[in-house]
Amino acid sequence: MFVNNIHLQHYRNYSQLELNSFGPVNLLIGQNAQGKTNLVEAIYVLALTKSHRTSKDKELISFDGSSAYLSSSVSKKYGDVRLELAISPQGKRAKINGLEQRKLSDFVGSLNVVMFAPEDLEIVKGTPGVRRRFLDMEIGQVAPGYLYHLQQYQKVLVQRNNLLKQAWGKDLASILVMLDIWNEQLVEHGVKIVKKRKQFIKKLQRWAEEIHQGITGGGEVLKLSYVPSFGEPEEEDEAVLLERFMLKLSQMRDQEIRRGMTLAGPHRDDLAFAINGKEVHTYGSQGQQRTTALSLKLAEIELIHEEIGEYPVLLLDDVLSELDPYRQTQLIETFQSKVQTFITATGIESLNAGRLKEASIYHVHAGH
Ligand code: ATP
Ligand code: MG
Repeated sequence: MFVNNIHLQHYRNYSQLELNSFGPVNLLIGQNAQGKTNLVEAIYVLALTKSHRTSKDKELISFDGSSAYLSSSVSKKYGDVRLELAISPQGKRAKINGLEQRKLSDFVGSLNVVMFAPEDLEIVKGTPGVRRRFLDMEIGQVAPGYLYHLQQYQKVLVQRNNLLKQAWGKDLASILVMLDIWNEQLVEHGVKIVKKRKQFIKKLQRWAEEIHQGITGGGEVLKLSYVPSFGEPEEEDEAVLLERFMLKLSQMRDQEIRRGMTLAGPHRDDLAFAINGKEVHTYGSQGQQRTTALSLKLAEIELIHEEIGEYPVLLLDDVLSELDPYRQTQLIETFQSKVQTFITATGIESLNAGRLKEASIYHVHAGH
């Protein structure tokens, strides 16, 4: 798919911006704090209705504005779509071809993007929460229904945690009746989430391993695995998962009441990376961690293509200049003919890949 243009109003440091006729490769060049990241972030927000940098939508609205507006025309295999998103302190509203979408999750997926930014290193180095967020955002893009189960799960989780917080010292019988009701719902949505995550990781694994071998010259084997808080890592059968989740909750019951929180479920799971059998988080060098993150992102491009039959748009924020000229060239040439790419950098000198000479260049200066 191809982003033809973008129009922003009161978005971050852009009070008004209209950019037309993007090319296959677009370089956004500017000094620090001029709005390069804000611009690629805007494309990401049009795809996912959420920022990759913050969960607080309010931060996306200009300091001097009351609501932000983003729109873009995107060319897809079956025609053009016009996407519009309005963000106000009261919430978000989205339109596809002028038609208001009742649920934001119906809007997500109209535009597909893969973003690679410096903070993505945290997917490898950071806490399990970062990896769960990565899984949720990426699966949400390609699997209709996933975000619904995630939202429902989170709602039930809050209610269940509230109950557990008040449970200590109270009449156990009445607590257990309530807990049973929440358990049913928690397990119902939790199992769907875990199953999708496992399927996603299995598919991502195939591409990531191949791409990683390409980058490293074949000497390293990258493996991805799901680290569940209940049941076996590879188990995907819903009935089995359901039974295992229920069992785990019953085993943890006393501990949960004591600690006042839910201790098993997809909100406690993790994703692990290993190179040649060794955990990258613990043993990987800086370079290996970066290559792992890059392989993951490139694998996602292929995975999205496999799932929806179209290549997503690639957003590279500040990462290309970090790679040596060989890797820059490899990255650009692998995808140039298939994947529309937006690249930010502070100067054109740091970009060495030959093909970048044909790119469209935009100079970003103080939100213009
Ligand atoms: P760098 O090269 O340092 O990464 P950048 O060009 O990517 O810089 P951005 O992250 O896009 O810079 O930020 C540009 C400016 O936008 C910053 O000075 C920041 O203070 C400003 N900014 C962020 N949020 C808002 C907002 N809600 N309203 C107005 N300005 C904002
Ligand atoms: Mg930036």
